[in-house]
Parts: sequence; structure tokens; C-alpha cells
Amino acid sequence: MDTAKAAAELAATHQEQFGEAPIGVFAAPGRVNLIGEHTDYAGGFVMPAAIDFATVAAVSRRMDGVASVYSVNFDKRVEFALDAVPPKGSHEWSDYPFGVLEVLRAEGIDGGLGAAAKQGGFSLSLFGDVPLGAGLSSSASIEVATMLALLAVAGVELPGPKMALLAQRAENTYVGANCGIMDQFIACCGKRDSALLLDCRSLESKLAPIPTNLSLVICNTMVKHSHAGGEYNTRRAEVEQATATLRSHRPEIALLRDATPADLEQWGHEMPLNVLKRARHIITDSLRAEAAAAALERGDLEALGQLMAEAHASYRDDFEASCPEADLMVELANQQPGLVGARLTGGGFGGCTVNLVEEQHARAFGDAVAKAYEQQTGIKPDVFQCHASDGAKKVL
Ligand code: ADP
Ligand code: MG
Repeated sequence: MDTAKAAAELAATHQEQFGEAPIGVFAAPGRVNLIGEHTDYAGGFVMPAAIDFATVAAVSRRMDGVASVYSVNFDKRVEFALDAVPPKGSHEWSDYPFGVLEVLRAEGIDGGLGAAAKQGGFSLSLFGDVPLGAGLSSSASIEVATMLALLAVAGVELPGPKMALLAQRAENTYVGANCGIMDQFIACCGKRDSALLLDCRSLESKLAPIPTNLSLVICNTMVKHSHAGGEYNTRRAEVEQATATLRSHRPEIALLRDATPADLEQWGHEMPLNVLKRARHIITDSLRAEAAAAALERGDLEALGQLMAEAHASYRDDFEASCPEADLMVELANQQPGLVGARLTGGGFGGCTVNLVEEQHARAFGDAVAKAYEQQTGIKPDVFQCHASDGAKKVL
């Protein structure tokens, strides 16, 4: 998204919808995870990048005690009196902005937003080009764009990590989705031409440079296997079981990220094989995320590609969270010129692959993978050409 252009257009739309010019227009990006899968709830490392697909939010103040939200994508408007905002979401798109409002108010940030502010209120317009529900986290991008807009109404500034925690809370408590911190964190703290290595326990993070001659090509398998939800819960239980076994020997292992490959060598035989394999994926993938950041720092793209290949194999064979379509998509990627690394990204059992590709090959890469994938599966995949981009910011 050209955020400056999108912001100007949204400002005009906002004027038409609400008869007021916005006091500001804000943008927050979607994201892709380069490496570190299911390591978040084990307290380990992930390494996402913000992408140049985003949600923009235009906001103006009102004086009639009403909160009104308009989505260009849905061409719908939802509004409530500030003292009559439903306490929980209703499985509508408007849950995301109203969830953010509720979380901010619960934090005591209520200048112009509070239920008592009969004179306050706001009008908010939203537009996003992050594909909805494709695994690129349009949800975090709408939450964080809304958050910047509402904070501007209240006249409050918060640090990125704090905004990320509040946006995550909105999704957990109001929308009712049990997501980790990664999506909101990278939407707030991403940087252009960089990946971000995030310690999901301490929330310490550091940037790692992505060479500017590389593209992020995201290929959507267009499948999401229906057992994914159940498998997710099974995986979490297996990870718990592995952690408990290791903790019985080393009490300082609070989360699986505290365990080492040597711990698994020593005590892995006490676990069922499936539990051992899940633990091995998480422990090694968290280490791979750290190693991948180090590889980017020293510009070692060969090492990075190797780590991504190992991560895919681990996700497929040890975590058993891949699927034939995703394996095919990665295999096709590996046959193309200009590829640095490819793997299945996201929660698993379908979804998207992430591919680091030399810029001059990126178009041909996407076309070739899409064509071969369609020939072999009969499914036409979506392909997104992206670059690592800035996190949330004021645009206008
Ligand atoms: P993902 O985060 O992978 O895109 P989710 O299911 O978590 O998928 O979030 C997608 C939902 O977020 C959409 O169904 C919609 O309710 C909401 N959403 C995202 N962007 C917008 C937007 N621009 N306008 C309205 N709702 C949006
Ligand atoms: Mg989401």
C-alpha cells in the first residue's frame, strides 16, 4: 500500500461519511513470520517482518457522546453511544475497533472516549488492503491502526510494546481469539527493510537487516485443513507434557524455551515419541530464529536459506503441522532461480508459504510457482509481492 495516497483517499471518504475532516490518519501493517513457529507460547523466539500491506484509520472528534466506525472494505457503519458499547464482541468486523476502545478505557485512557464523556465521542473510518483471513494478520493491523487513532483523540502517546500488549488484549478478551503477541508487536514495532527478532517472554526485540535487493513473496496455498483447530489444542497439550517431563529433572525449565537440545537427548526417552518430536521442533525452531537473525546481521543468505529449509522440515516432520499442498508449494519454490529460502509460515495445516527471493526474480518466481501449483492441484493460489516495511505510524 502507498500509505500516503491511501491516507489522502481515506481522508476524503471520511469527510463524505461524517462531514468532518479527520484530525489524523494512521497506518498499521500486516506481517509475515520468517521463522519461529509455535515458539511464542513456549516463551521462545519468532522473527516476523511487517509488510507493505496495511490498514489506514482516519479519525475525528465528536461532541454527541457517540462512537461511530465505518469500514470502507465492508461499506458498513456501526455506532454506539459511549455508555452503551457492548461489553463483548458479536463476531462482527466492528469487534476489532470496539475491542480496542474497550481496552483503552479499561486502562483509564478515556479523554473523549469515556462512558461519562457525554460531550465526547469519535468517528473512525477504516480501510485495509491486507487480505482478510489469509494469515497476514489484517486483524492486528486494524487493531493497531485503530489504537493510534483513538490515542490521538485522547491525546495520549504510548510506547510500541505497550500498544502491542493492549491490542493483543483486545483480540483475546473482546474479539475472543486466543492469539499470541507477535502480530501486534510487529505491527507496532516493525521497521522498513528489517526483520524483528522477538523474545516472546521478555518482549525484548532487535532488528535484523533484510538486504534491499530481496523481496518477500507470500504464496497462499488456499487450503486450511478443517482439523487445524483440534490439532492446535493437541500440540499445545503435547508441548505442556514435554515441558513437565523436562521440568521434573530441571525445575528451572518454566517454559520449553528454557530447555536445550541436550536436555531432550538426556530425557526425551521418557516421553512418547510424538511429544518428543513436538518439543524438538519448538526447541530447535526458537534456536533457528536466533540463528537466522545472526545470519541476516552478517549478510549470510546461504545460512539463512538453510535455516528456513530446516525450519520447514522440522515443521513438517517433527511438529507435523504441514500438509501436502504446503509441501508442494515449498518444493516448487526450491526449483526457482533467485530463491534464498522458503517455508510454510503461520499456524500450520495450510495457509501461506513465505519466500525470500532476489528482487529481479520475484515476479517470475511468483508466476512460476503459481502456474505449477495450479497445474498440480487445480487450485489457483494468491501470490503477494511484499517488502519489509515500517510499523504503525501517523501518515497525515
Ligand atoms: P487475519 O488476521 O489472518 O487476516 P483474522 O480472522 O484474524 O484473519 O482477522 C480478519 C478479520 O479482521 C476480518 O474478518 C474482519 O472482521 C477484520 N478486519 C480486518 N481488516 C478490516 C477492515 N479493513 N475493515 C473491517 N474489518 C476488518
Ligand atoms: Mg488475525
